[in-house]
Amino acid sequence: MTAFGADMPPFSELAHGVRRLVAPNPSMMTGPGTNTYLLGQRQVAVIDPGPSIVEHIENILEKSTGSIRWIVATHTHPDHSPGVALLADRTGAEVLGIAAPAGKQQDRSFAPSRTLADGDVLETAEFALEAVHTPGHASNHLCYRHVGLNWLFTGDHVIDGSTVVINPPDGNMQHYIQSLQRCRGLACAALAPGHGEVIKDPARAIDWIIEHRLEREAKVLAAVDANPGLTTRELVPVVYKDVHAKLHNLAERSLLAHILKLEADGVAQQENGRWRRLI
Ligand SMILES: [Zn+2]
Repeated sequence: MTAFGADMPPFSELAHGVRRLVAPNPSMMTGPGTNTYLLGQRQVAVIDPGPSIVEHIENILEKSTGSIRWIVATHTHPDHSPGVALLADRTGAEVLGIAAPAGKQQDRSFAPSRTLADGDVLETAEFALEAVHTPGHASNHLCYRHVGLNWLFTGDHVIDGSTVVINPPDGNMQHYIQSLQRCRGLACAALAPGHGEVIKDPARAIDWIIEHRLEREAKVLAAVDANPGLTTRELVPVVYKDVHAKLHNLAERSLLAHILKLEADGVAQQENGRWRRLI
């Protein structure tokens, strides 16, 4: 994978009728910024308007050659959907996606006029866009497949050059791996992620992510096996030997995601918060 945060132009035409704007919110978590995609020339669908930044919303309006008919969100984390309300106010477009689940780090301002389900299709004379439910990074995460191009707009399910945070309980590693396998099965020509460049070799990129996650899972299981009876917190320095103590809180969330998958798979079990291997 390429380095996260590689040079990205603020505006690009990626394919016929597919344009991308990068929101001005670069950071360690968002890379160059959140990608906003504009599909279609006459009736436009906007995917992920990003955070609520007036300048970015103005940019979306300026770069939309036609009228904006739909605004769709991949999920409701704060770098993806808060711009929806502002753009909807300016355009009267229909807002589509799945409302925020309970929990922290969720955009409660996101109010879909229609809740999308797996397999729903938005269709114009120019394109058809199919919703693909991909829980894992977030329980309400949807990818969108451009049927004609067979491109998948992946939000934070797959991003370019980095791995995404799986933060339980809304983040779920077992669902994440299943959703990755599902996307792999779509045999898409390209992945257009929520952060970073277009991924031209989806099978290789998805295989890399699955492999990387399963490798980490094997390390977690080996640590539980060698140190039965430790809590999740106590396992952190065992599994993440290479990670600075400053980052142990974040590492603990990730470790919890792996160990809850092992529990769901019937491989590990906890008693009073202490983990042990079962098989
Ligand atoms: Zn996210």
